Amino acid sequence: MKILAITNQKGGVGKTTTCVNLAASLAVAKRRVLLVDLDPQGNATTGSGVDKSALASTIYHVLLGEKKLSEVKVRSGAGDFDIIPANRELAGAEVELVNELAREVRLKNALTGLENDYDYVLIDCPPALNLVTVNALTAAHAVMIPMQCEYFALEGLSDLVNTIKKVRAYLNPKLEIEGLLRTLFDPRNMLAQQVSAQLESHFGKKVYNTVIPRNIRLAEAPSYGMPVLFHDRASKGAQAYLALAQEMIKREKANG
Ligand code: ATP
Ligand code: MG
Repeated sequence: MKILAITNQKGGVGKTTTCVNLAASLAVAKRRVLLVDLDPQGNATTGSGVDKSALASTIYHVLLGEKKLSEVKVRSGAGDFDIIPANRELAGAEVELVNELAREVRLKNALTGLENDYDYVLIDCPPALNLVTVNALTAAHAVMIPMQCEYFALEGLSDLVNTIKKVRAYLNPKLEIEGLLRTLFDPRNMLAQQVSAQLESHFGKKVYNTVIPRNIRLAEAPSYGMPVLFHDRASKGAQAYLALAQEMIKREKANG
C-alpha cells in the first residue's frame, strides 16, 4: 500500500481534481484505491458523487478518535474506489485537537491495519500548511505536488519543501517527494513553458512526463458528481489522468 499526500498550500492548483480523477484512473487499471478527503470544503467528496450534507460521520470523527476509518468509509458514487468523506465539520478539528495528545499522528494511526486492503491511498489536502495537512504528511510515504506553471509557483514550492523537511526531521523521516505534476497547462502560454522547463531542470525525474492540460471537461465533471472519465472519456483531461495512472504504475514496476 502506497500512501500519497496530494498537497500544495496554494489554492486552486488542481489538488482535488487530481485526487478524484487519479483515483478513478487507478481503479480502471485494477488498483484498489482509498481516497481520503482532508479538506473541509469537501470537494473531493462531492466530486466523487457523495452527498456531503447527508453524512453521519466523516474524517473529522476519525481525527478526533471517535470512529475508525472502516466505520466512515463509503463507496464512490461513480468510480470504483472507496472514500473517507469530509465536510465543514472538519474545520473545527484544527482547534479541537490543540490540547490532544499525538495530534499529528491521528491519520497515520487510523490507516494502520489497512496495508492489505488497498494499493493506493490518495489524500486530498486543504490549501494550507496546517495541522490537518501535517497529519497527511505524517501518514504519507510520499507527496505528489500538483502545480500550475506560473511566475510564483517555484517560490511557493520552496515553502512546501521546507515544510516537508520539518516533517521529516520531527515526524516522518522517510517522507519522499513522489512527483511534481504540471496542471491546468496551456502550451500556448510562453511563461508556462518557461516555468515548466525550469521545473524540469531543478527537479529532473521527479517531474511527471504526463502534463494535465486545461480542459473544460475536467471543470464540468464535479457538477455531475463524477470523475471526468465517466463524463467524457475521450476528452483530453480524462486521457491525461489515465496516462498519469499508467505512468505511476510503470514507475512502480521499475522500482520493484
Ligand atoms: P483548493 O486549494 O481550493 O482545494 P485545488 O487545488 O483542490 O483547490 P481544484 O479544486 O482541483 O484545485 O481546481 C480548482 C478549479 O479549477 C476547479 O474549479 C476545477 O474544476 C478547475 N480545474 C482543475 N484542474 C483543471 C484543468 N486541468 N482544466 C480545467 N479546469 C480545471
Ligand atoms: Mg481542493
